[in-house]
Amino acid sequence: MSDVHTQLRLHLFALQAAGVEFLPVPPPRTAPSAPRVVAAPTALPTAAIPTTAPTPVSVSAPVPPAVPMVDPLEIRRIALDQLATTVAACARCPELYATRTQTVFGAGPLAPELCFVGEAPGADEDRLGQPFVGAAGQLLTKIITAMGMKREEVYICNTLKCRPPMNRTPSSQECANCREFFDRQLELVRPRFLCCLGAVAAQNVLQSPLRIGQLRGRFHEYQGIPVLCTFHPAYLLRDPSKKKECWDDLKMLLRKMGRPIPGEK
Ligand code: SF4
Repeated sequence: MSDVHTQLRLHLFALQAAGVEFLPVPPPRTAPSAPRVVAAPTALPTAAIPTTAPTPVSVSAPVPPAVPMVDPLEIRRIALDQLATTVAACARCPELYATRTQTVFGAGPLAPELCFVGEAPGADEDRLGQPFVGAAGQLLTKIITAMGMKREEVYICNTLKCRPPMNRTPSSQECANCREFFDRQLELVRPRFLCCLGAVAAQNVLQSPLRIGQLRGRFHEYQGIPVLCTFHPAYLLRDPSKKKECWDDLKMLLRKMGRPIPGEK
């Protein structure tokens, strides 16, 4: 798709966001006819002046046909693809740029009911370009299934789009560098609920210094979206005893979403 085409579609989307739902199509042009000569009016005889209001004459100018606007989801998908392309070329964090194999943008449908947000890609994600595909990702898939959902139904991403070397915790500057991309991504994906996985993701999304133990177990808000924080699946792999607390968090989320809790009546 050409740039001009893309820009035009984005412009249409902006119009639609402003409340414009239809655009008129101008009537076809016709060859100009010879100018009509109109005689200068002469004084009317008094008897010719009507005493009642004239009957309105119908104006039969052609009504332009309405053209439906472009599908808003399609426009958002295009904008998201453009954002992913921008992210793929990003070099704001010199060390991450120099050591990454590729950026890991995110995966899943637009307008999902739920979006999971992790911290940053790990080694497997960096290699494959997809979020949560390693051992922690497999556990996340099990968690999603246990919640009565399918992985393809949810959107999955990280707050940072590049892997920190040796999986170190990203610096506050790196988090700040990538924040703009994350905000725009969520603006385009528009999930109904967010679930932050782990302390770094939770602190990044909520801009909070609190620890995960203080953030989990209650709802927060990000751009009007209800947010629940829980443990990162990688942490659950290291300490399986935390799985019950994680499940308690997710049951709270399911209740808030109005979904049934599998295994409970
Ligand atoms: S982490 Fe984000 S801001 Fe930093 S280089 Fe990667 S894409 Fe750019």
